[in-house]
Amino acid sequence: MKTIRTTCAYCGVGCGIAATVTGERQVTIAGDPEHPANRGRLCSKGTHLGETVGLQGRLLHPEIAGKRASWDKAIRQVARKFADTIARYGPDSVAFYVSGQLLTEDYYVANKLMKGFIGSANIDTNSRLCMSSAVAGHTRAFGEDVVPASYEDLDQADLIVLVGSNTAWCHPVVYQRIMAARAERGAKLVVIDPRRTETCDEADIHLQLRPGSDVALMKGLLAHCRDAGVLDAAFLDASVAAPEGFWEALGEGNDLWSTAAACDLPPADLRAFYELFARHPRTVTMFSQGINQSVRGTDQVNAIINVHLATGRIGKPGAAPFSITGQPNAMGGREVGGLASTLAAHMDFAPENVDTVRRFWAAPRIADKPGLKAVDLFRQVREGRVKALWVMATNPAVSLPDAGLVREALAACPFVVVSDCIADTDTSRFAHVKLPAAGWGEKDGTVTNSERTISRQRALFPLAGEAKPDWWIMTQVAREMGWADAFGYESGADIYREHARLSTYQNGGKRLFDIGEHGAITNCDYDAMEPFRWGGTPFADGRFPAPGGKARLVAVEQRPLDDVLPKWPLTLNTGRYRDQWHTMTRTGLSPRLSQHRREPLAEIHPKDAEAHGIADGDLVRVSTPQGESVFRAALTESQRRGEIFTPIHWTDRQSSGGRTGLLPQPLVDPHSGQPGFKATPARMEKL
Ligand code: SF4
Repeated sequence: MKTIRTTCAYCGVGCGIAATVTGERQVTIAGDPEHPANRGRLCSKGTHLGETVGLQGRLLHPEIAGKRASWDKAIRQVARKFADTIARYGPDSVAFYVSGQLLTEDYYVANKLMKGFIGSANIDTNSRLCMSSAVAGHTRAFGEDVVPASYEDLDQADLIVLVGSNTAWCHPVVYQRIMAARAERGAKLVVIDPRRTETCDEADIHLQLRPGSDVALMKGLLAHCRDAGVLDAAFLDASVAAPEGFWEALGEGNDLWSTAAACDLPPADLRAFYELFARHPRTVTMFSQGINQSVRGTDQVNAIINVHLATGRIGKPGAAPFSITGQPNAMGGREVGGLASTLAAHMDFAPENVDTVRRFWAAPRIADKPGLKAVDLFRQVREGRVKALWVMATNPAVSLPDAGLVREALAACPFVVVSDCIADTDTSRFAHVKLPAAGWGEKDGTVTNSERTISRQRALFPLAGEAKPDWWIMTQVAREMGWADAFGYESGADIYREHARLSTYQNGGKRLFDIGEHGAITNCDYDAMEPFRWGGTPFADGRFPAPGGKARLVAVEQRPLDDVLPKWPLTLNTGRYRDQWHTMTRTGLSPRLSQHRREPLAEIHPKDAEAHGIADGDLVRVSTPQGESVFRAALTESQRRGEIFTPIHWTDRQSSGGRTGLLPQPLVDPHSGQPGFKATPARMEKL
């Protein structure tokens, strides 16, 4: 028996795991007491990972047109189809759609192949659905996508504000850490969420605001901080730039009463929160999908950051705005530039960056402008402009908004490749070529969690069947397409070192890796790597990577959602259950995890149910402009009136109803391209 230190497969907390292999594909799981993210703690999903590592449902060999094929044949087929399509229609006629489940090494190879060699930036990721509004907000405010917080800030904060985050269910180990801060130090907790979730149980204040009114709430807070005299004038003067008229405009309509009306909140509760905030300089404001997954997501992020900049609550212990991500490696993808809107290594498409990366990769044909973001990408597939698509480790036929359109797009696309560890997914049913990828417990590489800690994910078992690491699969295709020299990697370590070199080569200030004497990268010992957080305490010196070294306040306006959404009688909100993950391809294998919630429920306020003649347990049809699906009704006063909540996990493979994926509209934030999953116009009827 041997114990191997690795990381959890699921959320962006990025917990360290001590895995003891006890037999063939058998493992016992414990929290790694040495890992800074969790210090030995795990949640139910991580604890039961051992129940999900069997071979049930695995894709074990390549398939072409539904028939088993050799790797050689499958690689040749993929390379030839992509090369032919590019030759005939140009580089923008092909695309990759990848995943926060990929390791950083996989992401790096995918990004390099698409942007540096195919010559298009049509590589986007399911992280677009998760945190791209935070990326856009950080970039607008700081000049660069940096998360200026760490979990240690939670240990040091006197006030923790959770906005749009059911942390108790979606990031449970962070929630445990917050509870410890409350028990040990009396830290206050405020939850801002239209739903009364389990996260609210221990909160000092829960503000059950109107969906989409977060900008108003934060502007009201900023106005209160100014009136209470807690703005940091010295920090504002030295480190922050404000657009003309910013402070004058704050005087209009942001008083307590107007804000309470805009947010549909009791003024006394709002005042209590504002006064608590003003009294506690050590404040962490943690935000998640309730902020990001909105057609106003980027403005909402900047409304939060504005308050922290204006009060100087950034770059100091226990004081920061903190975007917490959904997936284990959403941050690693950001670090290599694995989004259609970034180039590589935290660089955008500025001409000097394009030149830097072109020279570093010796790239024959480098992309010089952003590519298609997720929702637009699938629209272009359906319209026939993208003719060859490679989907890696994700299930867009369920997870993207307007899943019906995504299915039409996949069905119409002349060539679809799916690499996945699972044999039968809603997306792989459309694949012309299926490629078996390594799963958790077989992968070997690095991931970056929400607080910028880079950790190793290590292999526990041999690869299943003929499965291969994602980076290996892409490397073979790249070689077959004629780029053997640039894709000569023999291991994940080779790729990681190249990624480290690019990050420091262009660097100056990206801080991803430490540089020792003679330019050597000092935290790059791959095999023995201990978890390390890059970047220290960002902005501790009051300097930002924006023009003049100053951060920027962004003028944001509260606008009603029905500016862009049609008016229907109800609003649908969507999200996760505690013990399931994404489309349940892994968590669905664990009998114990399935006990928590056995079926998808539509959570409805009792008065709305009464108005519709619906009783607890009835079957109801939920309809939106996009589609409809059937759920069992669960009546609860945790919902606001006029709002329904349904879970995202169930797909065709598990049930004919409960298909939340069919319901959200493909409307996106104009800055980030992130879809607004949290507020879809809806109606319901009893069946
Ligand atoms: Fe895994 Fe997240 Fe749970 Fe930690 S909190 S054990 S990373 S699912």
